[in-house]
Amino acid sequence: MSKLLESFAAITGPDVVNHLRQLAESLHGAKVIHVNSTRIGGGVAEILEKLVPLFNEVGLDTSWEIISGDADFYQCTKSMHNGLQGNKVNIAAPLLAAYERANQACAEALRTKLTKADFVFIHDPQPAGLLDHFPDRHGKWVWRCHIDASHPYRPVWKYLRGKVCNYDASIFSLPAFAQQLPHPQYIIPPSIDPLSDKNIELSQEEVNRVFVQFDLDPARPLLVQVSRYDRFKDPVGVIQAYRLAKKFIPDLQLVLAGGEASDDPEGEAVLAEVREAAGNDQDIHILLLAPDAHRTINALQRAADIVVQKSTREGFGLTVTEGMWKSKPVIGGDTGGIRLQVINYHTGFLVRTPEGAALRIRHLLHNRSRMQEMGRKGKEYVRENFLLTRQIREYLTVLLSLRHGTEYRIDLS
Ligand code: UDP
Repeated sequence: MSKLLESFAAITGPDVVNHLRQLAESLHGAKVIHVNSTRIGGGVAEILEKLVPLFNEVGLDTSWEIISGDADFYQCTKSMHNGLQGNKVNIAAPLLAAYERANQACAEALRTKLTKADFVFIHDPQPAGLLDHFPDRHGKWVWRCHIDASHPYRPVWKYLRGKVCNYDASIFSLPAFAQQLPHPQYIIPPSIDPLSDKNIELSQEEVNRVFVQFDLDPARPLLVQVSRYDRFKDPVGVIQAYRLAKKFIPDLQLVLAGGEASDDPEGEAVLAEVREAAGNDQDIHILLLAPDAHRTINALQRAADIVVQKSTREGFGLTVTEGMWKSKPVIGGDTGGIRLQVINYHTGFLVRTPEGAALRIRHLLHNRSRMQEMGRKGKEYVRENFLLTRQIREYLTVLLSLRHGTEYRIDLS
């Protein structure tokens, strides 16, 4: 067994890893390509960074490609993202033209590789138009949607559906996100890599360093939300919740830690709104972190008393998983993938308003033993459900089912 697989076995037990190898055996050497729109920033990049090496480790020939485009392309795909998550957005024809152009250019650049691939995973709307340019494809193409598509704005979904319905299958994170499509749909929630810099155990010394680095007081309670500056993450709502709670807990501190995903053109405007909402409160720390600041984020999440993710829409919310893995109670928005992870009253609290969040913050900070109990349960819940090995197993199963179709008998021995 390779070193990487051995280290996973140490966390999950050897059976989990042996099962992966058994599943992968009959896919040995298959060419797999993942395509998304950024290598850094956001949950998809976070997952692919770990998933691709592990796919290779179990014997599939896997690579990761990126689609890029001009400013209009990113404007268009951000609007698609917002539209899929329910915002009424009208996407102007020139933006759609930029989307089509970027997909065509990417198709040409990747033509040889994509033509040879046995399996192609297309992540989210940005590269969804690639398939239009491979009418005679040889491999199986899967559209992997990471977005909360439970209530999409119809015109946006109608446009995207025109692309997606030609795929061989699609994958959504929750049953509630699945759509009417003429192909098999699989439900696979994302996962975290417990061995990555973002999640690995840190020494107390390293955790303590972030208190110094960001001028935080280790003796005072700390709330942490890690998120791109995106309105669906509701950073302004977090500030409101903090303010309401601070009336009762005057020494409360808040960290909002974010960076910029290179495919997100709205980040700057949201950051300005957040700065304005924070005013000159010295206990609100708005951090702009480098895209590779994984250990810093890890340390901040460990430094927190409570991890917050007050999203109003959330495809999954890896930051919730990350917080739970660090044995933190999570106060999360009652939406999408957060509901799958925050088991209300057990691994954290689900909230809908700043008032609700403030109430839970006060409750937890006055009940330290409850915080510990929730944190302990949260970590076990992640170990059982949201580690990378589970996601790889499910992806391999999808590939097997795509390869074998409706064959009566599939021999995995
Ligand atoms: N993240 C990061 N730096 C930041 C903000 C977020 O590394 O400044 C990471 C975060 O730790 C998590 C991922 O990006 O691993 C965000 O995934 P999530 O599913 O929470 O949200 P998304 O950005 O995909 O909507």
